[in-house]
Formats: sequence, structure tokens, C-alpha cells
Amino acid sequence: MALAPAETTTAFDFGPAVALSCRECGTRYDLGPDFACVECFGPLEVAYTWNSPGSTAVPVTRREIESGPANIWRYRSLLPVPAGVAGRRNLAPGWTKLIHAENLGRELGMRRLHVKDDSGNPTHSFKDRVVAIALEAARNFGFHTLSCSSTGNLAGAVTAAAARAGLDACVFIPSDLEEAKIVMASVYGGRLVGIQGTYDEVNRFCSELIGDPLGDRWGFVNVNLRPYYAEGSKTLAYEIAEQLGWRLPAQIVIPVASGSQLTKIDKGFRELVRLGLVEDTPYKIFGAQAAGCSPVSAAYKAGRDTVQPVRPDTIAKSLAIGNPADGPYVLDIARRTGGAVEDVTDAEVVDAIRLLARTEGVFAETAGGVTVGVLRKLLAGGLLDPAAETVVLNTGDGLKTLDAVAEQARPAAVIRPSLDAFRTAIGDNQGKG
Ligand SMILES: *Cc1c(COP(=O)(O)O)cnc(C)c1O
Ligand SMILES: [Zn+2]
Repeated sequence: MALAPAETTTAFDFGPAVALSCRECGTRYDLGPDFACVECFGPLEVAYTWNSPGSTAVPVTRREIESGPANIWRYRSLLPVPAGVAGRRNLAPGWTKLIHAENLGRELGMRRLHVKDDSGNPTHSFKDRVVAIALEAARNFGFHTLSCSSTGNLAGAVTAAAARAGLDACVFIPSDLEEAKIVMASVYGGRLVGIQGTYDEVNRFCSELIGDPLGDRWGFVNVNLRPYYAEGSKTLAYEIAEQLGWRLPAQIVIPVASGSQLTKIDKGFRELVRLGLVEDTPYKIFGAQAAGCSPVSAAYKAGRDTVQPVRPDTIAKSLAIGNPADGPYVLDIARRTGGAVEDVTDAEVVDAIRLLARTEGVFAETAGGVTVGVLRKLLAGGLLDPAAETVVLNTGDGLKTLDAVAEQARPAAVIRPSLDAFRTAIGDNQGKG
């Protein structure tokens, strides 16, 4: 199954990664641009020296991590990347702020609430993490073009990473995305192609392209490089734990599109426990979706363990995946950890964006409105413990989804540059209450 490297002059260097292994049946494969098990069609995951059967290796200590660079490469011993990755041409994402959200917490009646703000990444969304790992895989396999099917943020992360690395890029998006995401996906160069259809249709198109000579030696970060890509989300778990002082949060609210991020944050937490880097304390994982695209939340509420695809209709376009590949794993993790999966309406998303901005000075994209909205709804429903240490993710920048709030965010007054005019304007406002 493993393909020979195309025209690479050196051997693969995946650092501590040694194989791909099937998440369902455990069959192992050589490291290659493969993503599905030939035995059972289960998703493939990266296996490392340190988690191979019988291994007692300790790959890294807290001290070694702490003395690493202020980006995801501080965790390189736990990722499928070469030891020298920090010196290579990539966007070096990560080590974003974990904000102690005291004001938002006060408003919601929570004492220990934190916002992990991934809008601080190079292309202003969490996607830079996953792309950075996929880029190293693409280099290993001798691919010349970096590609993806995207709900918006991924396209910009891929074209930017390809620009820095000196690779070609060709990315595919649904043609009805937000203006800012289209501009971002295009400004870094490469080729941006809009497809008339939903993300799920774009994704299916990309799967066809992989089997065609047109896509020869292309690395689709979220398709044929998916096992590597997915590992990037573990760095969110590592960072949160380290930033809390090497502790797991008791509760965490994570957005769900394909479900990959949520699944890998759980994996990251479990790895930290297994490696003795944090204490084995219980944590609950909560998934967040928009009501207009909530197939996982619907399955959770109905008590099903399979996900029925939907056709998305929501302003949270970055989460608009109607047929989420990792949906069943999300259900499993939410139930196993004592969490839940919940959804909020577009109006609740907008309210939550404004609440977070007003209380913490963090302007989230619609995906962040979804997580904060769900946090609020779970609290009201008694599913979240207001006293327990809680982290809520903001995975993207509000500047990318301005339309969501633009209507309600206008100048209080437009006046001539004079004190008199200002006085009148204030008086008018006060008069109107
Ligand atoms: C891609 C994305 C996610 C998570 O996507 P998964 O497919 O579930 O891993 C979350 N937030 C934003 C803003 C995204 O772009
Ligand atoms: Zn299998």
C-alpha cells in the first residue's frame, strides 16, 4: 500500500513517527500518503516510537518542552516531523494566548474560565497548526503542489504555507464563502478555485482529483495527508495543558466541523497523561456546532452513534461540513468523558461573538461565536459545572466574518469634527435613552 517516494533524494525523515496504523483494526502500514485502511476502510493514524506496543521510551520532558521555541515545534518529539523542523521554512504557528477570561466568567457565573485564542496564528485561524505538519509530510513525499478542500480558513493556511515553503498551491473552496476568506486564500499566490457546491461536494471532487493524473504528486493536506494533518490539532491540547501549569482542564468546549480537531485534542490529553507529563485528572469534552449544520449534535441528542449527513445552512461557514468524517468519534468522546454535543442558532452565534468581544477584547469569527454560544447554553442547561476549570476555544479571527456582526456594529454617530457637534450627538443619544 505504501507508495515509493517520488524523486526524493534522501530517505524520509518523520522524526519519531514510525508507521501509520488503523484506528479501527490496528493494521500497520509504512509511512506514506495514505489515509484509509485497506482491510476495513478505517482512518489511519500516525504511530510513534514512543507509543508502539511494548515501548517504555520517554520521548521528552517538561523541561525540554519549556526550553523549546514559542510555537508548535516545542512539541516536535510528539509529532511526525524531523528534529530540525524549527529551522525549516514554515509558518511556525502556535503558542497562542490562553486568556484568563475573568470578565466573561463573571458575566456567566464562572470563576475559572479561559479562552484559548487561536486567531493569533499566522493566517488567523487554528488551521496553520494542521497545515504545518502536512507540509512536512508533503516535503517528505516529494510533492510539488499543496492542495486542499476547504471551508475557508484551510485554503488561506495552505496557500500561505506553500508560499513560505516555495511549493505550488492549488486550493478548492465552495464559491459562496466570505469575502475575507476568498481574499486571504488568493493573496498568497497559488491557484484558488471556487466550486459551485457545498464543502462536501468540494471534498468529493478532491478525492476524484487524487486518483487522476491531474493531481499527480499533489499533497491534499486534509485528504491524502490527513493522518499527518490531524496530528497538528494535538498541539492545542499540549499548549492548553502547559499553559495551565501542566494540568488538564476539567471541561473544554471545542467546535466541530469534520470533528478532527476535537478527536485529536482528546488524543493529545491522553498522550500527556500516558507520558507522565500531566496528572491523570478527569476532563469532559463538549462539542459545539451551529444549528444550521448540526449533524453530530443531532445524533448526540437522539442517542445514535452514527451521523446522518445534512445540507449546511449557517453563517458559521468554517464549520459547515454536512458529512463529518470524524463525527462518530466525537460522539464517542463526548459520551465517554461525560461531555455533550450542543448547537446554537445563528442569532445566538452573533450574540456570543459580541459578548466575547465586549467582555474580553477578543473578536472571534463565527466558529468562536459557536463555542461561546454553546458554553452559555450548556451552563444554562446545567450540563457544564460553573465552578470547574473550563477552556473555550476561539479558532478564528472576527475580521474574517465581518458580515456576521457588521449590521449591529456601526458608529454611534457621524459628526463634524467639533465639540459642539459631539455634545449634541451625546445629548441626542442620552435623550433617546
Ligand atoms: C477547520 C476549523 C475548525 C475545526 O475543524 P475540524 O474539521 O472539526 O477539525 C474549527 N474552527 C475553525 C475556525 C476552522 O476553520
Ligand atoms: Zn483497519
